[in-house]
Amino acid sequence: VIEVRGVTKAYGELPVLRGIDLEVREHEAVALIGASGSGKSTLLRCIDLLDEIDDGDVLVDGEVITDPAVQPHGVRKRLGMVFQAFNLFPHLTVLDNVTLAPRRAHGVPKAEAETRARELLARFGLAGREEAYPDRLSGGQQQRVAIVRALAPSPRALLLDEVTSALDPELVGEVLEAVRELKAEGITMLITTHEMGFAREVADEVCFLHEGLIVERGDPERIFTEPEHPETRRFLRRLL
Ligand code: ATP
Ligand code: MG
Repeated sequence: VIEVRGVTKAYGELPVLRGIDLEVREHEAVALIGASGSGKSTLLRCIDLLDEIDDGDVLVDGEVITDPAVQPHGVRKRLGMVFQAFNLFPHLTVLDNVTLAPRRAHGVPKAEAETRARELLARFGLAGREEAYPDRLSGGQQQRVAIVRALAPSPRALLLDEVTSALDPELVGEVLEAVRELKAEGITMLITTHEMGFAREVADEVCFLHEGLIVERGDPERIFTEPEHPETRRFLRRLL
């Protein structure tokens, strides 16, 4: 679904991505792990065309989306992104947050968009909260609304950037449960996380990013029990 080929990106003189190759196949969950500043968020932002790459290509379903001729708007319809800090529209109700993109960008009729939104909200434990404004919800509920909002336009894949790191510890579980639900439904996902136990559980493949390069990748069990690269070892050892 997503293919990243030789992507490089620098902020001014600072190289942040130094040649990333990555593939996320249909129904697969790929977890990006790595130290703070290793480039995880930047990679997701480049895939979602929120940041411009310097070199390489990103493909979605075989189409090069990083071609300057491609409309970023059209690409974002095919990918759903969820950020660390929910980013819900504060002046819109839960239901309007979720139906905005399908209605505005995809031209889905209001009634149809709302039916789907209510179904999705119910599936993520948010039935009855449709008319609430975001500031009336807990952080965990807000993040689940953000996940539902990303899912509403039926994207080809979801990009989840540290979706639990802004939450109080007692709220992390419910959001991880929502991601498990996405996985159970076969939603294709590329996620960054500092929750190693969770990456091990939910990911089909784990990629370890070090200073803008994926230095090791593979089966989660293998990476977490027998990391091969010295930097992966150092990173995991520090977390224990
Ligand atoms: P974390 O685990 O803390 O979220 P990360 O792996 O997501 O870290 P990035 O946010 O991708 O790391 O940042 C990678 C590097 O790029 C860092 O050195 C950061 O300071 C730099 N960087 C990120 N965004 C910008 C920006 N808009 N302008 C300049 N430098 C940036
Ligand atoms: Mg980040």
